[in-house]
Amino acid sequence: TYVIALPCVDVKDKACLDECPLDCIYEGERMLYIQPDECIDCGACEPVCPVEAIYFEDDTPPEWQHFTAVNAEFFDEL
Ligand code: SF4
Repeated sequence: TYVIALPCVDVKDKACLDECPLDCIYEGERMLYIQPDECIDCGACEPVCPVEAIYFEDDTPPEWQHFTAVNAEFFDEL
């Protein structure tokens, strides 16, 4: 799955929302989140993010690895 990381916090540019063919990017209070069970790894969202907040989960910088869980947990709480 693709993952949204720290740069999105308090930015929420939302350019990614228009790119996702499955509409599986959701808005939270301070950032956007990718629903991991719906994401098909197409990669369309990643290059349009102006703050480079989106990564394929295995390519997420080490300091932001926990955002894989952060994204998933957002949907656990819904
Ligand atoms: Fe949507 Fe594709 Fe990005 Fe997954 S990788 S969130 S399916 S645009």
